[in-house]
Amino acid sequence: MARLQSRQISQLHLYQVLHAVRLASEPLSRAEIAERTGLSQPAVSTLTRRLLESGALIEVGARPSQGGGRRERELAMNPDHAWVVGVKVAVHQLTVALCDFAGGVRNTLKVPLSSPMTQTALVRTLAREIESCLAGAGGAVRQRLAGVGVALPGFVDSMRGEVLWSPVLKPATRKDTASLDQALTDAMGVPVFIENDANMLALAEQWFGHAARVANMAVVTLEHGLGLGLVLNGEIYRGHSGLASELAHLQLQRNGFTCQCGKQGCLEAYVAHYALVRQGRQAGLLAGDEPLTAEGVMAAHAELIKLARQGNARAREIFETQGSTLGQWIGNVVNLLAPQLVLLDGDGTSAADLYEPALREAMTQAMLLPHREAVQLVVRHQGDEVWARGAASLVLQRLDESTEVVESISRHGVDHESGGRRPDA
Ligand SMILES: [Zn+2]
Repeated sequence: MARLQSRQISQLHLYQVLHAVRLASEPLSRAEIAERTGLSQPAVSTLTRRLLESGALIEVGARPSQGGGRRERELAMNPDHAWVVGVKVAVHQLTVALCDFAGGVRNTLKVPLSSPMTQTALVRTLAREIESCLAGAGGAVRQRLAGVGVALPGFVDSMRGEVLWSPVLKPATRKDTASLDQALTDAMGVPVFIENDANMLALAEQWFGHAARVANMAVVTLEHGLGLGLVLNGEIYRGHSGLASELAHLQLQRNGFTCQCGKQGCLEAYVAHYALVRQGRQAGLLAGDEPLTAEGVMAAHAELIKLARQGNARAREIFETQGSTLGQWIGNVVNLLAPQLVLLDGDGTSAADLYEPALREAMTQAMLLPHREAVQLVVRHQGDEVWARGAASLVLQRLDESTEVVESISRHGVDHESGGRRPDA
């Protein structure tokens, strides 16, 4: 391995300090930062001084020192240091979250979306709605916007900022010469980061949610499509190409039903909303055989849920099969990765009453015996703002990693008069 330059080491240490303060649920003393990062107390003093000068950190409150002597000031993220925006792009709606530097949500906006659309149309819509969310927060927010994160379903090469396939986008045209992140960067004038949506929900969970101190976790998202995000050893796992964790496209059957990704026989083509609608139509429970828009699938899926809750045996069977298929797959994901926690989220969990018992039974059967007591499955529906907050967190992470960016924000006139307010993250 090449030797790190001293400047790189200093940058790495700044990141470690910033990240320790960011992930702490309470403000930290310098001694606590030293303990959490493994850095020496003198090093932490130097690094925190730099971060205080840049405005990334602020001093808040004070606790008596253990010897009862001088009171020690604690450090927290400075929420007013910069603003970031996160967006969740779903096939039927766009959710925008404006966050402060501490990750606190300051404004949100939700608008319907008609997809698939061209990249040019998506960039135009994103830019318009992000500007609208910023304007809604008033003041000088726009000038202090440091970046935008976009979470969208599909195959996303986050390293290159390229969307290789997404149900939201029509196939690329000659007009789409720039990658999505570059086109949006040009439109917004700030750095833009693109990521797979399930990964962003996993990041939000790790930073603010259920999995705050969980180092190994699988997040399964059940919506129009099926998604998987993995946190391994405390980091989002992206693999060599950025395309890791696409196990929703595990091939269950050769020459099986066509998945929206274009491949045949994917798991998603048997358990996602559009798959259940196809099954409902085949069973004669839902009318029509014409291709449906995303809104059409949502409406037909809701109709199938209604029939099942009214006791229609065939409709109930469709959801039970969905549960057992998903449960078997989740059990196998557990066998591969041995996570502490599996989180099932997405709007599909609003019908969990119809499939969760079958899912849990199949998952238990599929798991190795030692996992059966140890691995927790949590099912819940948190809403799209959480995903958008995850996309905003990605921008914060990139800012933290690039201390040059953090320090340049301060050079360009960010207001530091936050008065020691505690972050609301
Ligand atoms: Zn597929």
